[in-house]
Amino acid sequence: MNTQLLKPKSIVVVGGSSDIHKPGGKVLKNLLDHKFKGNLYVSNPKEDEVQGVKSYRDLNNLPQTDLAILAIPAKFCYDTIKILCEDKATKAFIILSAGFSESGPEGAKLERAVVELIEKHNGVLIGPNGIGVLTPHYAGVFTSPIPKLDPKGVDFISGSGATAVFILDLGIPVGLKYASVWSVGNSAQIGVEEILEYMDENFDPEKDSKVKLLYLEQITKPKKLLKHASSLINGRQELITIGSIFMYPELKGKNIAIVTHAGGPAVMLTDALEKGGLNIPQLKGEKIDELKSQLFHGSSTENPIDFLATGTAEQLGLIIDYCENNLDNVDAIAVIFGTPGLVEIFDAYRVLDKKIKTCKKPILPICPSVNQASAEVSEFIEKGNTFFPEEVLLGDALAKIYYTAKPQSANLKLPEIDVKAARKVVDEASDGYLNPEKVQALLDAAGISRAKELVVGSEEDAVKAAKEIGYPLVMKVVGPVHKSDVGGVVLNVKTEEVLRKEFNRMIKIQDTTGILLQPFLSGKELFAGAKREDKFGHLILAGMGGIFIEVLKDVQAGLSPVSLGEAQTMIKRLKSYKIIEGVRGQAGIDEAKFADIITRLSALTEAVPEIAEMDLNPLLGDSKKVVAVDARIRIEK
Ligand code: ADP
Ligand code: MG
Repeated sequence: MNTQLLKPKSIVVVGGSSDIHKPGGKVLKNLLDHKFKGNLYVSNPKEDEVQGVKSYRDLNNLPQTDLAILAIPAKFCYDTIKILCEDKATKAFIILSAGFSESGPEGAKLERAVVELIEKHNGVLIGPNGIGVLTPHYAGVFTSPIPKLDPKGVDFISGSGATAVFILDLGIPVGLKYASVWSVGNSAQIGVEEILEYMDENFDPEKDSKVKLLYLEQITKPKKLLKHASSLINGRQELITIGSIFMYPELKGKNIAIVTHAGGPAVMLTDALEKGGLNIPQLKGEKIDELKSQLFHGSSTENPIDFLATGTAEQLGLIIDYCENNLDNVDAIAVIFGTPGLVEIFDAYRVLDKKIKTCKKPILPICPSVNQASAEVSEFIEKGNTFFPEEVLLGDALAKIYYTAKPQSANLKLPEIDVKAARKVVDEASDGYLNPEKVQALLDAAGISRAKELVVGSEEDAVKAAKEIGYPLVMKVVGPVHKSDVGGVVLNVKTEEVLRKEFNRMIKIQDTTGILLQPFLSGKELFAGAKREDKFGHLILAGMGGIFIEVLKDVQAGLSPVSLGEAQTMIKRLKSYKIIEGVRGQAGIDEAKFADIITRLSALTEAVPEIAEMDLNPLLGDSKKVVAVDARIRIEK
C-alpha cells in the first residue's frame, strides 16, 4: 500500500471508453460522478477525448501519473505497465481485466510477470480481475451500486468481485454505511490480509472506521489474517446484519427490552435472543405501572412491551424514556415498528431517530415495512440511521456478537507452566500416543489437576497399589487406545477380591501392557482438548463430556493462545452451560477451574507444538474441583 494508491493526485484510466456499459467506460463515469479532485486522464488509441476527459492515443505522451486503472485485455497489460513504471512514475495499479491466473497457467505466468515488473519499481497492485477500489478520494470501481461513503461506516474488503457488489446491494437499502470498498480480485500482490494489516497498523482512532467487513473465499495467510481479524461469519445477510449492529453503541449487558406494536415479531425476536443466550427480563414495579397507565388499554408492559397497533409516536418516545431512565435491568432497546398501511408513520420514525441519537442505551430499530413504509424508511436512513428489516437475523447476530470474545491483545497472558519439564517429555518421546507416565508428566508440567494414578504389572503389585489409592477405585488397561470399547475399564471396585479377579481378566486383553489404578471419583463429565490445524496452530476445544459431545456435538473452539476471558466465553456459549452453572437444585461445576484448565491446555500446546492431538475426556467436575481422569496425547513431530 502506498499514498499513490490511497490518495492519488492523478489517475489514468487505460482503456477508458465512452461506452458506459464497458468496464473502461463505467469506471471513468464513476470517477467523474464522484468528483475525483486530482488530474484525470484516459489512454485510448482511438480517441482524443472520452466523456469530456483528455485521452492520449499514445501512452508515451501521457503526463506523469500516480495511479493507473487498467481496463484493457490482459495481453496488453504488461507492455502498458512497463511504460507507466519506467517513464510515468506510476506507483499504483488497479487491474480490472480478467484473463490472468484465474484463466489457467498462461494467465498465471503473465500475472507473475506483471507483479515482478511492478515490484521492481516499488509499485503496488490491486487485482487483477476485481471490481476495483472505492475510497473517499476516488470511485475506482466499474460496478454499481455505489454507496454513499461515510468515514464512520464499514471498511469492506472482498475476495470476490461479484459478491462485493451483492453485499453492497444488501447494505445500501438498510442504511449500512461504507467507509471504503476494496475488491482484491486474484490478489496477485495485495490480498485481503495485506489491506487489513495496513488498516490495522495505520489505524487512526479519530478518523478511521472501527468496523472491517471481510468477504473471503479462501484464506491463504491464516496467521496474518488472525493477527488482524477476530471473528468469522458466514452468509451475506449475516455479514450485513453484523456490520449494521456495529453502527450502534456496544451492548454492555445481556438484558434487552423489546418494544413493539405487533405481537408476532416480538415473540420471534424473544426466541432468537434467548436461544442466543441473551435475556428478556421481566419488567415490573411502580415505574412500569406508571408507564402502563399512559398507554392504551390492553397494552402489555412486562417485556415485550406491546403498545398495540394503535400505539402512537408519543407513546413510543415515552416507553423509550422509561427504558432509558427508569429501568436498570434494561441494557438495550429493540424497537419493532412497521405499519399495516392505514396511516403514515413518519412521526414514529422521527421520534425513533431522535431517541437513537440521544439515548444512553443502544436502540436497535427493526423496520419490517420496507415497502409499505418506504418513504418513512428512506427518510429514516437519510438521517444516518441503519435499520434491521428482520428480527430473527438481528436476534441471532446480536447474541453472536455479544458472546464473541474481544480481540486478544498480541501479548496476552497465558498461565505459567513448567515449559522445561514439558519440553523434556516430548523431546524424549517418539511419534504416536504417549504412555501414562509421560501423559502424567505433561499434565503436571501444565498444572492440570489429574487423578492419582498407579500402573501395575502383577496381581500382587495391584493389591499393594490399591491400598495406596484406597477403595473404591477404578481399573483401566494400559495399551489399548479406546479402553472401554475392549472391556478395559472397571469402575467402583470396592474389594480386594474383585480387584484380583478383574486384574486377571484385564491383563489378558489384547495390547495390554499393564493395569492402571485410580480412585473412583464423582462429578459431571467435562471435555477439553487440543487439535493442531495446518497453518493455524492449535484449536482448543471444550464442552461437556459423554453424549453432549458425542451426540449433541456441543463443543466450543478457540484458537490458541486462548486467554482466560476467551475460555470463559467458550464455556458460557455451550448449549449445556446451564448444567455447568447448576440447574434445578443441582450444584454446578467450578467454572473458574474449568476455564483455567482450558488456558493451561493452550499454554501447553504453545510450549509443545508437537502435540498433534490431545483429549482430556473426561474431566470430572463439581463445585469444588475439576480433575482429569483420562488423557490421551498424540505426538507428531
Ligand atoms: P476410555 O475413554 O478409553 O474408554 P476412560 O478412562 O475415559 O476410558 O473411562 C471410561 C469412562 O469411565 C469415563 O468416561 C468415565 O465416565 C468413567 N471413569 C473413568 N475414570 C474414572 C474415575 N477415576 N472415576 C470415576 N469415573 C471414571
Ligand atoms: Mg475417555
